[in-house]
Amino acid sequence: MNDSPLDVGRAKDKLIVATAALCGCFGCHMSLLDIDERILQLVELVEFDRTPLTDIKTIGKCDIGLIEGGVANADNVEVLREFRNNCDVLVALGACAVNGGVPTMRNQFDLKECLEEAYIHGIGVENPHIPNDVEIPLLLDKVHPIHEVVRVDYFLPGCPPSADTIWLFLTEIIAGNAVNFPYSLIHYD
Ligand code: SF4
Repeated sequence: MNDSPLDVGRAKDKLIVATAALCGCFGCHMSLLDIDERILQLVELVEFDRTPLTDIKTIGKCDIGLIEGGVANADNVEVLREFRNNCDVLVALGACAVNGGVPTMRNQFDLKECLEEAYIHGIGVENPHIPNDVEIPLLLDKVHPIHEVVRVDYFLPGCPPSADTIWLFLTEIIAGNAVNFPYSLIHYD
C-alpha cells in the first residue's frame, strides 16, 4: 500500500477517527469491534468523532474516516461528501465500500422493478404501495462503490475485513507507517 498521507495529527496526542455505515450491513463495524480488548489500546491512540459507536450525528475535522457500505441513496452521497471534506484520510472499509459488494446485486434490475418487488409484489406485502416521503432518502438508480463518488485514500477489502486486518491497518497508519499486510490477512479463500 502507499506511504501514509497522514501527517496531520502526528503532533497531537490522539488522532480523531470517524466512521459511517452507508449501504452496508454493519458487519464491517462489528468486525472493528471484534478487535476485542484491543479497543482499550485503540482508545489510547484515537478519539472517536461521528460514528455509530458514539452516536454523534455530525462530523468535525478528523484525521481518519472509515466508510462501510456502498452508495445507494442521496443521504449516502451527502454523508460520504461530508466525510471526504472533513477527513484527511478516507478509507473504504469492506467489499461494499470497495466495489459495491452485496448491495450491487440490485444493479441488474432497474429501480422501478426493485421498488415494485419490495413494496408491491413481494411475498407477505400488505397495503402494497411504494412509499414516498420527504423523510425517506431518494434511491439512486444504481449502487456505487465509494470511489466513484469521492477520492479514496485506502481500500480494505474483505466481507468484512478481519479484525486483525483492521487492527494492523489502523495501528500502522496511526504510527505514520506504510501498511504491509502479511499474506494471511489479505487471503480470502
Ligand atoms: Fe456487510 Fe460485507 Fe458489506 Fe461489510 S463488506 S457491509 S460485512 S456485506
